[in-house]
Amino acid sequence: MERPRNIRLRLLSYGVIAYMMLAFAWWSVLLFIKNRDAYEAKRDTMRLMMIAREEIPPTDEAFYNSPAFTELKKQYENQEYMILGEASVFVLSLAIGVWLINRGYHKEVMAAQQQRNFLLSITHELKSPLASIRLVLETFQRRELPRDKAASLTRNALLETERLNKLVNDLLLSAKLESAYQLHQEPVNLAQLVEDIFDQMEAKYPKASFTFNKKTAVEDTMGDVAGLSSVVINLLENAVKYSGEDADIEACISQSGNTVRMEVSDQGIGIEDQEKERIFEKFYRIGSEDTRKTKGTGLGLYIVNEIVKAHKGKIAVLDNEPRGTIFRVEIPVMREKVKQKATDNQP
Ligand code: ADP
Repeated sequence: MERPRNIRLRLLSYGVIAYMMLAFAWWSVLLFIKNRDAYEAKRDTMRLMMIAREEIPPTDEAFYNSPAFTELKKQYENQEYMILGEASVFVLSLAIGVWLINRGYHKEVMAAQQQRNFLLSITHELKSPLASIRLVLETFQRRELPRDKAASLTRNALLETERLNKLVNDLLLSAKLESAYQLHQEPVNLAQLVEDIFDQMEAKYPKASFTFNKKTAVEDTMGDVAGLSSVVINLLENAVKYSGEDADIEACISQSGNTVRMEVSDQGIGIEDQEKERIFEKFYRIGSEDTRKTKGTGLGLYIVNEIVKAHKGKIAVLDNEPRGTIFRVEIPVMREKVKQKATDNQP
């Protein structure tokens, strides 16, 4: 929401700009009129003098065909074009200036909004696992618990520490990606990597249904295992998070030519077209932090996109049928580098 003080400032700026435009339009019209008056006065004087000096006979035709009049008319027309040209350049520069200011202003407002969303979400994301862990520890301190109850509380506390750990890792990784991120390149088999992560996901989300579909054989690619794992984990975690209780998630992997393609599809809430670009921005989350129910920081897809870009790959968001979202990641194989690495590693 824009603050009233900002709105007043904006209205004032628009008022000043509108006044400048009107004033300039008025001065241009005045200049046109004065230019014409000066031309007419010069023309009449010139004619009288030429007749007085007997340079031409006193007829309209003789005067209008004379070289002196033709020169004067040309001068007058050039001045008219000059006024028109300057007025257009001024109006155009002002319009570009207003557009640039507006664009900068909108960027500022969006950045402030995202910063606010980030602070709200990060405070929540930090506070809620800490509160849960504290509650578990206080319960242990206060009384002796039966074995199964203690085990279930410990499991919950561990899950919360894992959440905290992921948050801290995401924050560190995104800070690293902002400075020069060095990929630790080695041959990776993406199909194997996704399959391994699938096993972890199935154990972590027993209610969700995961289908892994390896459509073709997949060559090793050069890649950073930690970075690529983070891509797969983030996409799968989002698929679960934005699908509700019984998530139905499919991952397909295939290779065509020099490109390995991975798709993560869900049947969840879907993403509207106008949001598809923005979800990759840092801290961007759809909706506002006050109304949103899911947990998150808006860092996941930013990290995913940066890592895919660092691998010279591409990411796209598509609508799934009948509902939900497909995230498609394409990574080039870089066969030569894989071969080179294999030769380097030979004893
Ligand atoms: P976070 O999940 O922490 O909010 P992300 O950067 O991972 O941040 O995602 C940005 C936003 O994109 C999310 O807030 C969510 O609104 C939307 N989003 C991401 N993945 C999905 C998905 N599979 N289905 C629907 N919406 C999604």
